[in-house]
Amino acid sequence: MSENPSNHPPRENSLRNWGLFVAATLAVWALYFWWRPPAPMLFLKRQEHLGHNSKAVSLTIDDAPHPLTTPLLLASLKRAQVKATFFCVGEGLRIYPELAHRIVADGHRLANHSHPHHNLTTVDADFYPHHIDACFAAIENVGKEAGIPQQTRLFRPPGGGLNREVMGYLYDRGHTLAWWSNNVGDWTCPPAWKIADGVKANLKGGDILLLHDGGTGTPQAIPAIVKEARKRGLHFVVMPE
Ligand SMILES: [Zn+2]
Repeated sequence: MSENPSNHPPRENSLRNWGLFVAATLAVWALYFWWRPPAPMLFLKRQEHLGHNSKAVSLTIDDAPHPLTTPLLLASLKRAQVKATFFCVGEGLRIYPELAHRIVADGHRLANHSHPHHNLTTVDADFYPHHIDACFAAIENVGKEAGIPQQTRLFRPPGGGLNREVMGYLYDRGHTLAWWSNNVGDWTCPPAWKIADGVKANLKGGDILLLHDGGTGTPQAIPAIVKEARKRGLHFVVMPE
């Protein structure tokens, strides 16, 4: 007696609406998969953090080598007893082989920051071998010449410029997209104290620190950054592949 038959139609309607919603969602996904296989986006190996429970941090330096500031960085890192990962520009390795040799002789690692340092979103895919593969070859060559083999799969795009085509290219070749979790913006060459304060303000275990070769502030900031990290119980490792 108490049952109100008028309750039934809305419930059936809402079930039907749910069914339609799920079917529409599945249809959109099916279309998306068919139109653009998402493998590069989903499965491209990427490294942007060492893990939130990690006590390790990686110091990475982009745009090396630089004739004026690489020696300052090497001196600063040696004094701080830190091994870093240098994301090198292939043309720089070719122009300054003696700096490249010094980087690896000091126990640092080389990784790929492209050959001519152009934003890859502005580059035709036909030229990716020149922009990406040529730098891997230059790194391997430095290792051979220096007698300290350098094998890396780490690629960091210049200016962080990335699109679907670049990701697909990296994915097809099994490279690792090397990102970061702490970026103070030292490429604008701010003073050392500003770089150190900026890095320390966001510093956490597992961080991949992004610094640059090219300003005199960065080598001066490194001792303060390292000191603070060690005070917090963190230790430095080269960036894992
Ligand atoms: Zn760069």
